[in-house]
Formats: sequence, C-alpha cells, structure tokens
Amino acid sequence: KNASPCYLNKIIQDNLELLQELVSNSVEISIDLTEHLLPVELDSSYFIDVLINLCMNANNAMAGQGRIVIKTFLASAQELNVTAAENQQIFIGLSIEDSGCGIPKVIQDKIFSPFFTTKMNNKGTGLGLSLVQSYMHNHNGFITLKSKENEGSCFYLYFPALQSSK
Ligand code: ADP
Ligand code: MG
Repeated sequence: KNASPCYLNKIIQDNLELLQELVSNSVEISIDLTEHLLPVELDSSYFIDVLINLCMNANNAMAGQGRIVIKTFLASAQELNVTAAENQQIFIGLSIEDSGCGIPKVIQDKIFSPFFTTKMNNKGTGLGLSLVQSYMHNHNGFITLKSKENEGSCFYLYFPALQSSK
C-alpha cells in the first residue's frame, strides 16, 4: 500500500478524458465537484482503477446511451450513521450515478461478492465491485449503493478526510 494525501477533485479532473474515452460514444460523463474539499489518504494509481470499474459498470448498464454523473461532496459521520467512536470524523464523498437498468433489490447485497456477475458469456469476472470494496476498506473508507430498477444506480464512496489541525 502506497497511500498519500490526495484531492479527489484533482484525480477526477485529471482522468475525465480517459474515462470518457472508455465509455460508449453516446454516454456522456459530467461532473459536479464541490470546491475546497479536504484531502484524503489514498493510493491514486489504484484509485483510477476504482473509477474505471465503476464507470464501466455504469456504461454496461446503459446499453450504449445515457449519462454518468460524478460528484464530490462533504459528509459528516452523523449523517452517514457511522459509529459513535468516529463521530467527529468528516468524510469526503464521491458518487457515480448512472441512468441505466438499475439493480434489483434481491441482488443488491450480493454484487460486492467476488465472482458475482449477471453478465453472460464470460463477459464479466464479477471481481470489479469486490476489488472496489476491498480498496475502500483498505483506505478506511466504505461504499454504499442506491439503485432502482429501470431508473438507475448510484454508488457512493466515502473516505475519511485528512484534517490538518491534529
Ligand atoms: P462484473 O462487472 O464483472 O459483472 P462487478 O463486480 O463489477 O462484476 O459487478 C457485479 C454485478 O453488479 C454486475 O454483473 C451487475 O449485475 C451489477 N452491477 C454493478 N454495477 C452496476 C450498475 N451501475 N448498474 C447495474 N448493475 C450493476
Ligand atoms: Mg464490473
């Protein structure tokens, strides 16, 4: 593990073109970044793989056409319902939302398991989200999901913010 203080906004801005090239021509990625967010501790080279995994999943869910919105924002432990011990912690959130097929309720807790895939003909390894989840846990963060069938999905990544006055 090779973590260092990073700004999520900068990583997203630096890789937006790359991500846009990886998705279908009629899938547009837009960003909505909150300015002046605190840095987080992460391994930026592997984090790009996290973004790629989530954007490719979103792309696959949209049958060649739709939109992906990437946002960053501030979140307190309280609003996230994180345990009391960490209650003073501030988190930096990153969400990736798509207008795709959505994820049925009955499989929402299975999709993070290694080798779980709904992609036919060996098109999916089922490893993407399990790697993303391990990455988040290794960086003291976590991932959550909101999704509705036929409307779309939104994956939320939360990292503890690095606070300088400590
Ligand atoms: P893979 O992409 O190889 O199938 P993942 O771990 O990345 O493996 O994803 C597991 C499963 O979760 C997918 O097969 C799909 O059913 C579901 N999934 C993940 N992301 C999305 C999304 N954005 N929209 C709809 N379904 C999704
Ligand atoms: Mg995948």
